[in-house]
This record gives sequence, C-alpha cells and structure tokens, in this order.
Amino acid sequence: MNYELKIALFPGSFDPFTRGHQAIVERALPMFDKLVIAIGVNRAKKGWMPIEERLERLRMLYANEPRVEVVAYETLTMDLAEQYGAKYILRGVRSVTDFEYERTIADANRRIAGLETVFLIADADTAHISSSLVRELASFGRDVSDLLP
Ligand code: ADP
Repeated sequence: MNYELKIALFPGSFDPFTRGHQAIVERALPMFDKLVIAIGVNRAKKGWMPIEERLERLRMLYANEPRVEVVAYETLTMDLAEQYGAKYILRGVRSVTDFEYERTIADANRRIAGLETVFLIADADTAHISSSLVRELASFGRDVSDLLP
C-alpha cells in the first residue's frame, strides 16, 4: 500500500508552552498521524524558560499521546521538517498581526521546500493567551497557572 503518514511539524518558541498552544495541538491531532512539536532554539536570545525544562514539561504533558513527539532544534524549520518526513507545518493564528507575519514564512516554506502550512484560528477562549503575557505576569509574581496546561 502506498499510504504515507501525515506528519505535521508545530514549530515555535513555546517559552512557555501555553493553553493556547495546547488547544492548537488538540485540534490538530485528528488531522494528522503524527505531530512533532519543535522548540526553536535561538542561540542569540537567552529565553525565559530553559530549553531543557520546556522539553521536559512538554514530554510529560504528552507522555500518553504516542502520536506527539517533542524536540528542540537550531536548524531551519524546513530542514527539520524534511528530517522528520513532515509535509505540513502547523501554526495558530490569533490576530491580523499573526496572519501578516505568518503569510511570508508560509509562502517561503511552500516555494522553497514544498511545505504546506495549516493554520488554525485561535478559539475565543484561548486567543488572548501568549507566552509573552505569561512571562510578564510571572515576572511580577502573578499566578499564571490558568494560562498554562
Ligand atoms: P513563535 O516565536 O514562532 O511565534 P510561539 O511559541 O509564540 O512561537 O507560537 C507558536 C505558534 O503558536 C504560533 O503559530 C502562534 O501563532 C501560535 N499561538 C501562540 N499562542 C496561541 C494562542 N493563544 N492560540 C492559538 N495559537 C497560538
């Protein structure tokens, strides 16, 4: 049989992984056979939560979901996609600002690497959540548990 697994790559900083990200993963799982959550490591930026902790928390969160794999990467997203045999990139869209930013990247990924980007529109319940909001609140000692998985 010539059945090819549908593999999607969900790239992001996930600094930290929020309930908004989680909602996107949950909605995407029925669409794909496998989902690779890929934490982009930017060597020029220090980040808020250490990469190791981001990896560990995510792997724990999806420990019972064999179709989810969690990795960290420093390469081009399109190169990572090829490495995992992923033909799709998954992204969430909260706003027009997100959309404008995403369209250029999606276009490049399709033209250069033949990757299709699948966009899921954020649910109204979680659209307000961003990693930067979590970092800001946490830095002032606020409880952010409602915003995290
Ligand atoms: P990046 O630095 O690549 O934007 P993020 O970790 O901020 O990485 O986000 C990863 C993806 O998740 C992006 O597509 C972003 O638009 C999406 N996303 C972030 N927060 C939400 C949310 N609350 N609802 C839906 N999608 C979201």
